[in-house]
Amino acid sequence: MASNQIGADALMDITARPDLILEKGAGSWLQDHRGKRYLDFIQGWAVNCLGHCPPDIVRAIQDQSARLLNPSPAFYNQPAIDLATRLVQASCFDTVFFANSGAEANEGAIKLARKWGQINRDGAYKIITFDNSFHGRTLATMSASGKPGWDTKFAPQVDGFIKAPFNDLDAVAGLVDDQTVAIMLEPVQGEAGVIPATGAFMQGLARLAREKGILLIVDEVQSGMGRTGMLFAYQHFDVKPDIMTLGKGIGAGVPLAALCARAEVSVFEHGDQGGTYNGNPLMTAVGVAVFDALTAPGFMEAVRARSHQLSEGLVALSDKWGLRGERGSGLLRALMLDTEDANAIVEAARQRDPEGLLLNAPRGDLLRFMPALNVTADEVDLALAWLDELIGQVRG
Ligand code: PMP
Repeated sequence: MASNQIGADALMDITARPDLILEKGAGSWLQDHRGKRYLDFIQGWAVNCLGHCPPDIVRAIQDQSARLLNPSPAFYNQPAIDLATRLVQASCFDTVFFANSGAEANEGAIKLARKWGQINRDGAYKIITFDNSFHGRTLATMSASGKPGWDTKFAPQVDGFIKAPFNDLDAVAGLVDDQTVAIMLEPVQGEAGVIPATGAFMQGLARLAREKGILLIVDEVQSGMGRTGMLFAYQHFDVKPDIMTLGKGIGAGVPLAALCARAEVSVFEHGDQGGTYNGNPLMTAVGVAVFDALTAPGFMEAVRARSHQLSEGLVALSDKWGLRGERGSGLLRALMLDTEDANAIVEAARQRDPEGLLLNAPRGDLLRFMPALNVTADEVDLALAWLDELIGQVRG
């Protein structure tokens, strides 16, 4: 049950939430209803790439909301054209469809691949996805996901998703058949515990897809928009996927996502895809402001510097406390613990006085770090110092 103390009983109880209400935020800091401050290394699950309430984004929302909210997707609007053009120019893709969530963008990717299979591969529709992967919470994206237990939850699943072990090219090659239309993966598996694809794996998948005449789809909902130190994570691998989905960071906190495709794969016909809010100017104006912030001179260099700093600090903590090291890409990183006390550390971090630290534990033995991409060097040092103190506290 939701907490009476907070007065939230009218909210559907879909997850365990602490007894506090977050009231405002600025940059890497949040403040709750009692005035306590938190250093936020979750940032809405890698969503707030520019931190809380970034002035450029607030201004974009204010300006656009006074001009035009939603003329309907049956008409063009300038911010949607501007953002699509920027994404196309910065990537190997040629066309963009805007969505409102990562799951919806992935649904679009699945539909587009199936449509392409109907036209080009004799109705092939199966998509190879990966163990422990996460693609969203709609029925099709839950079916695509490899999260343990999700194969029976809300059964029956949407048909056509074949699971392979991650970073195992031979296993994938062995699963491709006449009915396969695509391979779909996260370049860095986020919810699985921050597991990057190896270079050999990603390049092998691209080669395999080309040889077999099937599509390569990258789900960059978590890894895209600068999170890994490149604008898109696939750019680390010297590959050109056929379809990419974006979410989270592209809206810096507002609901915006994108489905990007190469021209040969952009096979939707009129009526195949749409949605009331898709590509509305309020959200895409935010996307334009986000894109321009991420691609401003020096921004990505700073992301890589902070990534290096965080990585080195986590290695030092791992050495000091006898943990199992760290891994990740850019500012999506994980500290691997030697025991199952990640949730105890997350809890202690939030309760820390007088200021708390917000961390996330996607698994019991692992802490995940997704700070704002513009987190400062001092804030990274502070988080690392507090984490050291918290590990000591939890472990007595
Ligand atoms: N794909 C990936 C890789 C994700 O990490 C997530 C969200 N954690 C999603 C898809 C789903 O995005 P959304 O919650 O916006 O639907």
